[in-house]
Amino acid sequence: MTKPAPKDWILAISPYVPGKSAADDGRPLVKLSANENPLGTGAAARAALVAATADLATYPDPGAAKLREAIAAAHGLDPARVIYGTGSDELLHIAASAYAGPGDEILYVRYGFSVYDIAARRVGATPVVAPDADYATDVDALLAAVTERTKVVFLANPNNPTGTMTSREEIARLHAGLRPDILFVLDQAYAEYLDGDEDDGGLELARTASNVFVTRTFSKIYGLAAERIGWGYASADVIDVLHRIRAPFNVTTAGQAAAVAAIKDTAWVEASRAHNREWREWLAGEVASLSNHGLRAVPSKANFLLILFDGKLTAEAAMKGLWDEGFATRWLPGQGLPNGLRITIGTEDQVRKVAAKLRAMAEAA
Ligand code: PMP
Repeated sequence: MTKPAPKDWILAISPYVPGKSAADDGRPLVKLSANENPLGTGAAARAALVAATADLATYPDPGAAKLREAIAAAHGLDPARVIYGTGSDELLHIAASAYAGPGDEILYVRYGFSVYDIAARRVGATPVVAPDADYATDVDALLAAVTERTKVVFLANPNNPTGTMTSREEIARLHAGLRPDILFVLDQAYAEYLDGDEDDGGLELARTASNVFVTRTFSKIYGLAAERIGWGYASADVIDVLHRIRAPFNVTTAGQAAAVAAIKDTAWVEASRAHNREWREWLAGEVASLSNHGLRAVPSKANFLLILFDGKLTAEAAMKGLWDEGFATRWLPGQGLPNGLRITIGTEDQVRKVAAKLRAMAEAA
């Protein structure tokens, strides 16, 4: 029987695998599998969101004027050059669609964010993966992998799922080494977790360079993952192009209002950042103390740790053991990391329980 035939390149896509929040038997789990804010949403953002639901019959502001202004004010940017998306995912997809297609290459580093592969394949472009350097970005390897067909380079900084950080100098060196006709998408989904002096200079670069697109999200430190709001910054030309293919009314009224309140609530952001830093470093220390059992945490600047299991306790067994304890974590065989388990930094109580379980499992293995 004839039926609609999808493009070959669409059939080659492996669907995005979201982090789970419940066991298959329906038992709820503490979700440490999707890098959300364990402290939740700030009160101001929540109140703004609720107030904005008073009118549900009218479309949202299509130009998201207040949201763009709030973002621009917070970062010293030109509001006209801020674009917004249904999560930063939408922005990654439209960047790939606008600048690459069949016959083109989209380049990123091994263990890069899994959406880059989907974004490339969706538009029929070829994903090209450059080797990493011990799980971190190898700028020389990325530059060496550029060909005349390269149209877009994606780099997450800090990176997911590794948590590794590429320094400001290395970002500048990468950008300087790319042809100006290549769009450099610097995905800063976790940038708010950095201390000020760790900033990679991406927004500064995007202010002046004609080929840099920085993306950010309200899904992580701002605690608004449910609302799906991302934003990006680039030259006026790039922003003009991206607006042409962004979905109309792509950020809801409640989402816009909540995001405006969240970006102004610097106390909530600071508290979330400080909590994350403290418990990430604490958990990293616990993992380091299990190195004799083959556990190692990749150095992270984000709100999660990638733990590598190279002893008797495997990542899969650790994931299952934590599952039985009530914690969903992210085992990563599909991303080429069968020995890797990514764990979001939770509340103090959650992190302590996770560490205790890891220790018990490692010592019993
Ligand atoms: N970039 C990276 C590196 C991420 O880890 C994520 C979330 N998993 C995103 C982008 C997309 O986030 P959102 O669409 O919620 O903004």
